[in-house]
Amino acid sequence: MTTFAGPTTTSDYIALDDRWSTHNYHPLGVVIAEAEGASVTDVDGKSYLDFLSGYSAMNFGHRHPALIAAAKDQLDRVTLTSRAFHHDQMGLYCQELAELTGTEMVLPMNSGAEAVESAVKVARKWAYQVKGVPDGTAEIVVAGSNFHGRTTTIVSFSTDETARADFGPFTPGFVTVKYGDAAALRDAITERTAAVLLEPIQGEAGVIVPPAGYLAEARRLCDEAGALLIADEIQSGLARTGKLLALDHEGVRADLYTLGKALGGGIMPVSAVVGSRAVLGVLKPGEHGSTFGGNPLACAVGRAVIRLLATGEFQERSTELGAHLHGRLGELVGKGLAEVRGRGLWAGIDISPGGPTGRDASLALAKLGVLCKETHDATLRVAPPLVISKAELDRGIDAIAQVIKPS
Ligand SMILES: *Cc1c(COP(=O)(O)O)cnc(C)c1O
Repeated sequence: MTTFAGPTTTSDYIALDDRWSTHNYHPLGVVIAEAEGASVTDVDGKSYLDFLSGYSAMNFGHRHPALIAAAKDQLDRVTLTSRAFHHDQMGLYCQELAELTGTEMVLPMNSGAEAVESAVKVARKWAYQVKGVPDGTAEIVVAGSNFHGRTTTIVSFSTDETARADFGPFTPGFVTVKYGDAAALRDAITERTAAVLLEPIQGEAGVIVPPAGYLAEARRLCDEAGALLIADEIQSGLARTGKLLALDHEGVRADLYTLGKALGGGIMPVSAVVGSRAVLGVLKPGEHGSTFGGNPLACAVGRAVIRLLATGEFQERSTELGAHLHGRLGELVGKGLAEVRGRGLWAGIDISPGGPTGRDASLALAKLGVLCKETHDATLRVAPPLVISKAELDRGIDAIAQVIKPS
């Protein structure tokens, strides 16, 4: 009998990735083999607390039983039809998602970037067909330090040079203003403005919460100019901040929301644009689509996610555990942390000058059994799954306190 000597150790697996996959990421040297709830286990059998949740794709933790059951059940029935035919999950999924989010229509897509692309296309079409903007001149106002995904059009309005360099020529029609600056937003909106596209909290930028009143003012300016407000809630939405949508904290409604990440329950890519019929209704057959968008498996998983969110339990956990997280992190300001931002179980923490880099802090945390990731030089993003226990949360915060401690 011959046995194939495949990869077994962490370094074997990393060497394989390095040799055979493109190098567009710089992951920590941990190779995960199994996961459950807020914990993951690597190929060496070492277990870690997940303090990142796949950038909020794992809000319900790893392999939530209700989500896995829904996926397994659907795997035994039908997984893909394409949109050439109807199937028995999509209408229910769209109805339930619209009702959950208080919207009227759903455009089902797969990745977050696709949802943002779709919202951009819909806003432009709406501007020409409904608002009456002269053909080819519509503008979308976006914020500096945004993150909306990685497609060519989306990186066209990124302000991150690493994300843009050598990918031009870029898509025109975007105007960038400083995030959080209502006066700059007012000055940028014209009669050609189709939409203002904002993250209610900028996750990738370091969990940046805008000044109080900014989002309400953005809503008011859009109403005044007859422009759409598009909220990218792909990371901030679906209970991460303690409410279903981060905009809910401000009592503000958007015309369109982009959703993704946690909508797929950490099982598969599921994204959507949700919003009003007056806007999403502009799409006619053949004008937009996706082979996998709204597939039966995605809809079945999405429906199970919606059922979890409808209980309010995860929003409550985020609020309660988030208060504890922010209370404890706040005590570290001046003791290794320069600043703590965020809402609910979501925090961006800036390490004080003289402390470790974000990368070194992430490496030190991994040694202590906590998986976290730097988002900028000295900034860590803390986003544990909302199923985490208070004891686990405390263990992770203790580890953070230890690695950022000034020497
Ligand atoms: C992650 C993210 C996206 C892109 O989602 P992908 O699924 O990675 O394409 C877009 N917007 C925001 C706010 C995100 O956090």
